[in-house]
Amino acid sequence: MTERRYDPTTDEWVTFATHRQNRTYKPADFCPLCPTLPGEEPTEVPYRSFEVVTFDNLFPSFSPDPPAPEIEASELYPVAPTNGRCEVVVYSDDHSATFSDLDSDRVRMIVDVWADRTSILGSDPKISYVMPFENKGETVGTTLSHPHGQIYGYPDVPPRPLRELDAAQAHHRRTGRCVHCEVVAAELADGRRVVAVGGGWVAWVPFWARFPYEVHIAPETHRDSLPDLDDAERDGLAATLATVTRTYDRLWDFSLPYVMAFHQKPCDGDPRWDALGHVHVELSPPHRAADRLKYLAGSELAGGAFVTDVAPELAAAQLRAARPRR
Ligand SMILES: [Zn+2]
Ligand SMILES: [Zn+2]
Repeated sequence: MTERRYDPTTDEWVTFATHRQNRTYKPADFCPLCPTLPGEEPTEVPYRSFEVVTFDNLFPSFSPDPPAPEIEASELYPVAPTNGRCEVVVYSDDHSATFSDLDSDRVRMIVDVWADRTSILGSDPKISYVMPFENKGETVGTTLSHPHGQIYGYPDVPPRPLRELDAAQAHHRRTGRCVHCEVVAAELADGRRVVAVGGGWVAWVPFWARFPYEVHIAPETHRDSLPDLDDAERDGLAATLATVTRTYDRLWDFSLPYVMAFHQKPCDGDPRWDALGHVHVELSPPHRAADRLKYLAGSELAGGAFVTDVAPELAAAQLRAARPRR
């Protein structure tokens, strides 16, 4: 069963991809993202060595030619096929590396891949939103430890970016300004929540951090999306991502799990998003202390109301203290 079902009580779509239940789950001794070595079982990557590779997810939630929905739709319950794309981006042929281990050239190459795939997937009229992301660590449900991320091309703008865009639109109507440009300027002026600045980018713990060590990264200059970034801006993004992920690993001296995701302007051509999308990265680590996790429970899961245990100013100071010297 592969279909999207509409929830009329929240105005949101839910995607069912029940074939994903059988996807590769922590294989004991075979990694499908490692290079294919001569005489050994082929992996998903037909090369003896590689830098960065990207390919379609074998167990996609969204695909270019999805089957027709199995269940009948009704006026109350619309149903849709799972049009879209799910791609895998393998960061390295080194099975034991993590994003923070990659050298600056490699991180820059990955930034180019994210930008190129955003352009390519975004040109498909059936795709409205492209979101590169990485789930790092078993704590956030990663099924393969080999360093990799994913890129989803969604048939609509997903709820969280949509809510952000709606808020940006309301702010723009009220003030005539991009809310993200204002937030970046405010954080730079204040400084208490800033984790790193350089190359035209700022990394900071949000004033409203929902996860204690949440970090956002955005360009100081307004840019809609990854493909809009020039060479120098891509270098700056790569350097900032390297600094933040290395800082995370030094915070408590272990490789910190996180969810990292890009928000950018939708690619559905709707002029209402012009000047509202301001590309940024959101990193959400699940830890609230070295030995404690933040679980999404009653208030967060049922109420959507986050209660956070650490003051963002304190989290930012701890992260600044852990930051590697460049
Ligand atoms: Zn591997
Ligand atoms: Zn802006």
